[in-house]
Amino acid sequence: MNIFNDLTNAVNRGINLMMDREIRLGVTGLSRGGKTAFITSLVNLLSTFGEVGTAERLPRFTAYDAKGISYGGLARPRDLKVAAFPYQNAYASLISEPPAWPEPTVGISEIRLELVYRNDDWFSLSKKNHLYIDIWDYPGEWLMDLMLLKLDYAEFSEKIRKRTAALSSVTDMSEWIKAGASLEADKPVREYELHRVVQAYTSWLKQCKEQGFAMVVPGRFVLPGDLAGAPILEFVPWVWDIPENCGSGSLYRTMEERYEAYREQVVRKFYRDCFSGLDRQIILIDCLKALMGGRETFMDINDTFDVLLENFSYGNSSLLGRLFSPKIDKVIFAAAKADMVTMDQYPNLLSLLRSMVKQASTRVRADGSNCEFMILSAIRATKCMYAEHEGKQVQVLTTDYCDEAPFFPGSVPPKWSRECMEFFQKYFEMRDLRPPKINPGDVIPEINMDILLQYILGDKL
Ligand code: GDP
Repeated sequence: MNIFNDLTNAVNRGINLMMDREIRLGVTGLSRGGKTAFITSLVNLLSTFGEVGTAERLPRFTAYDAKGISYGGLARPRDLKVAAFPYQNAYASLISEPPAWPEPTVGISEIRLELVYRNDDWFSLSKKNHLYIDIWDYPGEWLMDLMLLKLDYAEFSEKIRKRTAALSSVTDMSEWIKAGASLEADKPVREYELHRVVQAYTSWLKQCKEQGFAMVVPGRFVLPGDLAGAPILEFVPWVWDIPENCGSGSLYRTMEERYEAYREQVVRKFYRDCFSGLDRQIILIDCLKALMGGRETFMDINDTFDVLLENFSYGNSSLLGRLFSPKIDKVIFAAAKADMVTMDQYPNLLSLLRSMVKQASTRVRADGSNCEFMILSAIRATKCMYAEHEGKQVQVLTTDYCDEAPFFPGSVPPKWSRECMEFFQKYFEMRDLRPPKINPGDVIPEINMDILLQYILGDKL
């Protein structure tokens, strides 16, 4: 019976794919970029398809009317072994009293939706078409492991050595540097001592992550998933002098082997298994937080996009392209949380995002991919209004909470530069906004999600 079901599923999947009736979206983001909020909002919107007023609410999703969408809703999961994205819990948090932001997901999760729309093929017997949308959520922490694909152990160690130099004044790495210095690279591994250094290194990585740095590698150290406690994670980059005779069985060689195993069995496997199936990729970036972060965050983000640029571009000449022939034909870089700025700042926010990803985008385009840039807010916590200030009409933000006065957070620089960053840090008011008040059954307020829908679905219907 199981074999029969598996076969039927495989055949159905094959037919769906042949008819281009299935689309798989990868969603990720740099840490706390707003991925959970984004997926919650996207599922919420798709579930309202077919309801009265949907087309009016999503005016720039022109395919909605043009293709005669008549239904959208959750479908049975595609892969029963993958954790389901906790949509119901996320929505329940938002409508609770007081409202709470959805709990961020850790690890991989997936959710499948089904759309029904008009069939315009004259030769078809059916009047309806189905499109299945799989939204696949994976941690930004694992994204950065991409850089390891092309670094051997010595190169990885050198990369981290340079990072320790760059971050020495803003993070405290003394514990692992000191503990590691007492390890003897040319002697056999003493697991207990090594483990202490691994823990200290992991604490440093966690600290870097909390401070908003994106390049936190190896990613599984901070988010091990099912690898927690596994020997494959028992290594550290060797940032000290290397003794001459590190033969086989020495600590250095053992860590080198573990690093290689991590690279092959964890990183490469993850990208091969997961990326080969993706049609579209959305990368969410909290540009304001990145800009607020300081000089080191600035450098870190630049490095991060270099890595994305080298590995995460989707044409044939990219590393991923050569390794796995991914079929991703659209990459969407989205600046999330646009509701934290007034509407007159949207053009600047978009231009800031472009300037952050500029290099990457050029190469992605050169590879023949279709790369889009946009700003959005998945869960809009403010409204933009006009208020009078010194005799002039200015835009301000208001929230759903009467104890919060309207405020002007400040202006956003149009480009990513050190001077702009310093000005922004000084004058921009970055608030931890409370989520909007949403009545049960109501649609989640958002900004620009209709543009996003047009990007990801417009040509697939
Ligand atoms: P993840 O770690 O990438 O899954 O990030 P989350 O989706 O959990 O978002 C992290 C935090 O960012 C949330 O708890 C909210 O405080 C904030 N956030 C996310 N999306 C929005 C948005 O659209 N507007 C605002 N104002 N804040 C948001």
